[in-house]
Amino acid sequence: MARTRTSGVTTVAVERPFTLHIGPHRVHGRIDRVDRLPQGGFGLVDYKTGTPPTGGADEDGRIVMRLYLAGAREAWQVEPRVATLEYILEGENRRENPDGTEIAAAVEQAHATLDEISAGRFPAQPSWACRTCDYRLLCPAMDR
Ligand code: SF4
Repeated sequence: MARTRTSGVTTVAVERPFTLHIGPHRVHGRIDRVDRLPQGGFGLVDYKTGTPPTGGADEDGRIVMRLYLAGAREAWQVEPRVATLEYILEGENRRENPDGTEIAAAVEQAHATLDEISAGRFPAQPSWACRTCDYRLLCPAMDR
């Protein structure tokens, strides 16, 4: 919290829900914190209590952050510059500052995944792992 106070950002929203339309699919999510940045524009923050991922899981987290950025842009007509995963217990951050092409690629990847799920080719299997799953944003098994 002290780090947030000294960073120069102004928090403008917390727990803000959004809906992102991807083809025939609707992705519902919630941004833990939305900041106005001192240099202009907005930043998104998602709090995590787990351990920062490595390898492929780290890349998955980047895709989710890009979807957050796309969702915020669609829902609130703002151009968020950066999304940050804050691992509050570990004191680590993962920042993602993608360009438009990278965000479009993440949306396209999500579209393909959602098409597969809708076709029943990847049935969701809820378990204890859902609490910290990076795919909660996309998962049809999650209560909306
Ligand atoms: S949220 Fe969905 S994808 Fe993630 S572990 Fe749970 S059932 Fe599987």
